[in-house]
Parts: sequence; structure tokens; C-alpha cells
Amino acid sequence: MRVQTRAFNELRAEFRAQCAEEDAACWLCGQRNIDYPAPFDDYSNDDRFQLDHYWPVSTHPELQADPANFRASHAGCNRERGNKPPRPGLGIPSQVWVRV
Ligand SMILES: [Zn+2]
Repeated sequence: MRVQTRAFNELRAEFRAQCAEEDAACWLCGQRNIDYPAPFDDYSNDDRFQLDHYWPVSTHPELQADPANFRASHAGCNRERGNKPPRPGLGIPSQVWVRV
């Protein structure tokens, strides 16, 4: 069961700030165009930042608040991934989005 603890929320905010500063790429598609300033609840914006877990929380709940398990992702990529386990080749983009 996923539990949203205050500690996790703080870790997530820290991770987001760090990724924004580094302009970290989405680990799922490899694109460096994550919309960091977008609000997390801007649900129509698939480019907004989401914290993804390398090992899904559904299978590794003990790693939910482990920063080593955190990855930066697009909300859209994260949703597409669902709870699939990490696998080689996941970072190869199937589509190239060009934004101006
Ligand atoms: Zn992506």
C-alpha cells in the first residue's frame, strides 16, 4: 500500500528541486524537456515533472522513500510505464517530440 508520508513529500520536493536545477532528463524517454515549473496537478500537461521509482512502489514499497530509487520523468512517460519493472532499452524513445 502506498503511503504518502510527510517525509516522502519532503524528499520528493528536494528531489524535484535538484532535478530542476540540473535540468535532469526524463529517465524513461531520455528527453531533456521536463516542464519543471508546471504544477503537479496540471493533468493535461504530460511534460510536467513526476518522481518515478526505478523499482515500482507496488512491488518494492520499502524503497518508496529511498532517494537512490528516485528518477525524474515526464508525467506522460510515467503513466505509460505504469508499474512495469525497469528493463534495458526503456530509455530508447519510440517517438521524438520537437518543441519550440
Ligand atoms: Zn519522458
